[in-house]
Amino acid sequence: MRLTRWLYDCASCGHQYELAAADLSFSYGTLLAHARSGSVLIVDVVRDGVFAEVRDFVSADSQVMKRSVRDRTVLVHRVFEITLDPDDAGDRYSVQRTPGCPACGSTKVAWFQETDDPSDRVPVAATHSSWDSLTAAEKANALAARLHAALADQPEGP
Ligand SMILES: [Zn+2]
Repeated sequence: MRLTRWLYDCASCGHQYELAAADLSFSYGTLLAHARSGSVLIVDVVRDGVFAEVRDFVSADSQVMKRSVRDRTVLVHRVFEITLDPDDAGDRYSVQRTPGCPACGSTKVAWFQETDDPSDRVPVAATHSSWDSLTAAEKANALAARLHAALADQPEGP
């Protein structure tokens, strides 16, 4: 996958930062995740067994069923984030969204632009080592807690 530099202006502190990203409109089944350190992950949702697990868990929730398709997709991404191993710097990954400003941590973006400049970041494949070491009960608790928080974060739209 060819990654290009996407530029962001933080709405909270004005810091400019960039992420290595790509337009995935024609890459069905592929997601990108970013860490604040700049690391990039590629998730192959078709082959990632944990993704299927998370999607099934989220879809089965009665609160989720009331949400739009777009909102449900975002909820799956938010919950899936907790199953990803952090990068070498210990930073967590954010799926299909900014991981936050490297200077202040805010995820509010004042301005953003895709560019055609190639990025020198090399994406790595998603791994779930920590997640896989949890018991079934620990996973169920973690998924439920994350989904609860994600639902609370997401305003119930029409
Ligand atoms: Zn900032």
